Amino acid sequence: MTKYIFVTGGVVSGLGKGIMTSSIGVLLKASGLKIFMQKFDPYLNVDPGTMSPYQHGEVYVTADGGETDLDLGHYERFIDENLTKESNITSGFIYKNVIEKERHGEYDGRTVQVVPHITNEIKNKVYSAAKNSQADVIITEIGGTVGDIESLPFIEAIRQVRIEKGRKNVIFIHVSLVPYIAASKESKTKPTQHSVRELLSFGIQPDIIVARTEQPLDKNVLAKIALFCNVELQNVLVANDAKTIYEVPLHMYEQNAQLSVAKLLNLKLPRTDISQWNRFVNQIHNSQAEIVIKLVGKYVELPDAYLSVMESLYIAGYENNVKVKIDWIKADDVYEDNCSELLAGVSGILVPGGFGERGFEGKILAVQYAREHNIPFLGICFGMQAAVVEFARNVCKIQDANSSEFGETPHPVIDLIRGKNKDEARGGTLRLGNYKATLLKGSLAAQLYQQDEVWERHRHRYEFNNDYRKLLQDNGMIFSGIYQEKDLVEIIEIPSHRFFIASQYHPEFTSRPNKPNPLFNGFVKAVIDYNNK
Ligand code: GLN
Repeated sequence: MTKYIFVTGGVVSGLGKGIMTSSIGVLLKASGLKIFMQKFDPYLNVDPGTMSPYQHGEVYVTADGGETDLDLGHYERFIDENLTKESNITSGFIYKNVIEKERHGEYDGRTVQVVPHITNEIKNKVYSAAKNSQADVIITEIGGTVGDIESLPFIEAIRQVRIEKGRKNVIFIHVSLVPYIAASKESKTKPTQHSVRELLSFGIQPDIIVARTEQPLDKNVLAKIALFCNVELQNVLVANDAKTIYEVPLHMYEQNAQLSVAKLLNLKLPRTDISQWNRFVNQIHNSQAEIVIKLVGKYVELPDAYLSVMESLYIAGYENNVKVKIDWIKADDVYEDNCSELLAGVSGILVPGGFGERGFEGKILAVQYAREHNIPFLGICFGMQAAVVEFARNVCKIQDANSSEFGETPHPVIDLIRGKNKDEARGGTLRLGNYKATLLKGSLAAQLYQQDEVWERHRHRYEFNNDYRKLLQDNGMIFSGIYQEKDLVEIIEIPSHRFFIASQYHPEFTSRPNKPNPLFNGFVKAVIDYNNK
């Protein structure tokens, strides 16, 4: 029988609810349970796939091709499980399903309402995830803050889950802000009390309260929260600001969060083994030397747009005992006359994924700099496409080579994926999720992965145009990863260069603590070597 944990947020957003939720997952998994996680997002977009990175940060892609909220990346990196499309459900998706059912006459002409039709649809998503994942525990985070108009149907649905599945099988965790007032040197519990009262008005009594604070809380404050919010003292946990997000599971472990959960859910936890997690956090603290990597991208004002790339670099750094510092360069600011100045002294260049023409020429200049100066280079998706265009123009001398993403071009070295049609609807028409790449023996890719084939995650609409393969190959580029079913290029390399590799897929989605993705690990190693020389 699956157990259900629902996590809500109180007072303000941005409390790190996703990290808290994942940390509980880490502890339960380390106790031998099978965990699955879900996030409910109250906005009306059907999925985050078409949302602006400036508004929403990166779109995280699951192995089964779901375009999801960036919190899913935290979930996967923390609990080290592959999640699915069922892990991220928006209000828009729920409403779309209900309206489609109504149009197909599935409600037999009845009046279709938020309760019960929308709430039933939400509950179905929880129950179906439980069934398909076969998890012991499903942890579901409700996006937004309790009291928001948008999240009401979700709150009502989880209240009903508790009635349907019983108290011993369903618990509610409320993560709430406890602000510190510097003038009176006091931590204030009133906002949390109000937020719990709000939850109570919807019929939900939290079982565990996590107090998010900037200052350590003394016992009196915790006792006050317990008393006024109807929660036993051992179920009031504190989440102070942490030095790194990866410390949070350890902070929760010190407070026996897993035992509180286990007791409430009637679960037996023989032993909680967090040695792997300890190892990783020790690596973080032991990583002293610093390396700098220049990331040339379009949305650099909002680093969340590259969250998984950042985390992958950091994780690969810790694995090699270095701290990675990312130097952000806005691709539109890179021109021929300032490029050398911007990139001077660099020991690693990364060009990440992206869409649209703006900044593309700047990315090409950055690739050219890396190639000509023999500087370690990693290109991802759009970054690989920029590397191909650069090579075609500057090495193969096809001056007007370009990607057809930006309109018609005499030499589309990057072209629409065969079979895709430019006029298709925008949402959900990309090549998404896992595909297999067969690696070329003896290539850098094969050496890094130590495997003949790899499965990696994709999100793109354009691809390398095979009409130009021979020409580029004759000029010194190799194609070291191929999706054989469609003969589609997945990895390119320049073997005469110290470290020049780029992939059509997104390696950043599969890095996990203690297990950096091999492309990132190899790149960071190459940067360290370059620095040492
Ligand atoms: N815009 C490119 C494409 O659609 C690259 C996409 C990406 O970097 N995710 O193919």
